[in-house]
Amino acid sequence: MITAVHTRRLYAFEFVHFDGAFKSESHADLRRLLDRVWLTEAPRRLRNSQVALVFGKGTAMGGRQVSYAMGRGYIELAPGQRTRDVLLHEVTHCLGFSSHGEGFVGRYFGLLERYAGVPPEVLDASRIRYFYNYME
Ligand SMILES: [Zn+2]
Repeated sequence: MITAVHTRRLYAFEFVHFDGAFKSESHADLRRLLDRVWLTEAPRRLRNSQVALVFGKGTAMGGRQVSYAMGRGYIELAPGQRTRDVLLHEVTHCLGFSSHGEGFVGRYFGLLERYAGVPPEVLDASRIRYFYNYME
């Protein structure tokens, strides 16, 4: 497992496919989406707990503010990142995938297809690049 490389590849994938592709949504709309995803995807024992969704400052990373998830129950979306692709990335962390490894990508790509309408052929091509090409 080479997590730093996987993280760079995942961010590159997101930048290529999603930068500007999804519009900002209201807190109410993302709240509804989050509840729907959680009820369907979360482990049964966690379905009754609600994941907090905060529109906040995010956390500093690489000189900018980015969104993040904490544990199983907290998502904070930074300004300019209140979109469904970012929400689905953070939900994947709440589903139990703390690093950006293969398990994360498998789950995240499934959510992107089901809840953000990303075509499977885009995801399949990216999956191949993610796992088999060392871009550096
Ligand atoms: Zn992440």
